Amino acid sequence: MRFSKLRLNGFKSFVDPTELIIADGLTGVVGPNGCGKSNLLEALRWVMGETRAKAMRGGGMEDVIFAGAASRPARNFAEVSLTIDNTERLAPAGFNDLDSLDIIRRITRDAGSAYKANGKDVRARDVQMLFADASTGAHSPALVRQGQISELINARPKARRRILEEAAGISGLYQRRHEAELKLNGAETNLARVDDVLEQLA
Ligand code: ATP
Repeated sequence: MRFSKLRLNGFKSFVDPTELIIADGLTGVVGPNGCGKSNLLEALRWVMGETRAKAMRGGGMEDVIFAGAASRPARNFAEVSLTIDNTERLAPAGFNDLDSLDIIRRITRDAGSAYKANGKDVRARDVQMLFADASTGAHSPALVRQGQISELINARPKARRRILEEAAGISGLYQRRHEAELKLNGAETNLARVDDVLEQLA
């Protein structure tokens, strides 16, 4: 899947609607210190379903909303939209019927996050799975934050393995396995209850 456009509105320092066209090939972001380069990368990670406020350099998730400046009041919501070129039909099933795929995440103060895929409401999990299956996503090793290389060098083998699994595109399978195990445990508990009832009736 190829990202073709990123739109930000009220996200961190990007208070006004801002649109970035992501062209073919390598894209570089340059600018003076504090101009918002890392905020852009965080917006990309956020729209793909990041749930850890710390990974957004905030104390809570609402910290991604423009907090106000001397001349401008704070905003009440932040929105990031990512357009994916799907002409090659590489998007996972369920998201694969159009030439482009638009994922929108919006956070409103005191109301949390909501996601849309091509205009339809979807769950956070659907968006996270979509990107995990495509070997990208909020934890993708393709998005390298400042300080991440030294973290990787010093990481324990288990953490390094997780990075390799993410790159191989199998991290979505772990999530599905976890959910299947929870369902199985629920079914086993129900069966045990049925056995108890049958015993009482016998
Ligand atoms: P450097 O080159 O120093 O790493 P950078 O270009 O990556 O800098 P960022 O860290 O992306 O810059 O942006 C930091 C700027 O974003 C700061 O000016 C900070 O005040 C602003 N900022 C962060 N969160 C918010 C927010 N919620 N509301 C308004 N401004 C914010």
